[in-house]
Amino acid sequence: MKIYKFGGASVKSADGVRNLEKIVGNANDKVVVVVSAMGKMTNALECVVNSFFNKKSDTAQNIEKVITYHEEIIKELFGENRVSVDLMIEELFSNLREITNQKPSLSYDYEYDRIVSFGELMSTTIVAAYLQSRGLEAEWIDIRRCIITDQNYREGNVDMELSRRLSSEVMMEKKLCITQGFIAGTATNQTTTLGREGSDYTAAILANLLDAESVTIWKDVPGVMNADPKKYKDVQIIPVLSYKEAIELSYCGASVIHPKTVKPLQNKKIPLYVRSFIEPEKPGSAICNYTQPIDLPPIYINKGNQVLLSLTPRDFSFIAEERLSKIFGVLASYRLKSSLVQTSAISFSLCVDYNEVNFQKMIDELRDEYEVLYNTDVELITIRHYTKEIVDKLVGEKKVYVEQRNRLTARFIIGN
Ligand code: ASP
Ligand code: MG
Repeated sequence: MKIYKFGGASVKSADGVRNLEKIVGNANDKVVVVVSAMGKMTNALECVVNSFFNKKSDTAQNIEKVITYHEEIIKELFGENRVSVDLMIEELFSNLREITNQKPSLSYDYEYDRIVSFGELMSTTIVAAYLQSRGLEAEWIDIRRCIITDQNYREGNVDMELSRRLSSEVMMEKKLCITQGFIAGTATNQTTTLGREGSDYTAAILANLLDAESVTIWKDVPGVMNADPKKYKDVQIIPVLSYKEAIELSYCGASVIHPKTVKPLQNKKIPLYVRSFIEPEKPGSAICNYTQPIDLPPIYINKGNQVLLSLTPRDFSFIAEERLSKIFGVLASYRLKSSLVQTSAISFSLCVDYNEVNFQKMIDELRDEYEVLYNTDVELITIRHYTKEIVDKLVGEKKVYVEQRNRLTARFIIGN
């Protein structure tokens, strides 16, 4: 069995869905297809959640935008002959309207998962119906009955053993399953999600649970590149990477795969292929259990939207273990993730992904004990396998706030 994952960009239009059908039709194997929400529908659904939760009147309008987007794709794919998709999709449309006609509960995160999950439910409904209309034996699977998490809404923790039993029962014998990325369910049938961009992670979890032969992520780039092709001109594809290299890259902010994707695959030595849905005949990149040293070019990642924070205890006490664990506790309680840390005797600097609301709340809390200084709008540049030339090229005369280097990796926090 193979796992294929298609992200939002690959199914953003009717042509995208047709292309998916060609790729899946050529698979010659049992396949579980994991699909994200179409195009930017997760962002659009986040707008629905926000207007609903903040009791703004434009919720209905925001929902109609989501519905119209899907309607247009359905019209193009099925024309007049849409009975096969209508029953399920109309039910999803009306469920979404119904939820938002009631009062929201007190938990934003709960409402978020309940609403945002419609993106994946709608995309997979359309994709499954289209594949069936083309004569493929595709079965729509509700992943919320297969991948079970705790109630940590917006970043559910997966119960692997329970999920293994349920996923195998539902999917093992089937020829072609179409299911949702990113979303999951609790043991009491509530909907959860695994964190933004989490569909790659879903594919990896399923591969682990079902002992798949491989995972292929179909993307709009030819494979794993040594830098972002949207930002740099002379980039090159990296044909083979070890799990270790891949996990380091995704952790540093390389958006080609979600950082949580590697572990479930590494644990079972399942290879991950990153291939182009535009040129599916090309081999792309393989991430696998490769232990020989591979000669890699410098790989560089720019991570924007960062904030650099410096904390100094007001009473001049040392930054020791106990303080550090408290600071990280505060960070976690606001769901802020640190991408780099540096300590000195009485000062602690860290770079975090910027989220205006949570960040302000967090520093208000830290100000009781610390003098807090911060710079917003800084960028974190990570260079793996760095050379002097590449550091000069990327960092050059720029204003460097923090610099860290080890044998393989150089990291710079740059001010704008
Ligand atoms: N649709 C979700 C998101 O945009 C999950 C994913 O695309 O992987 O975050
Ligand atoms: Mg997406």
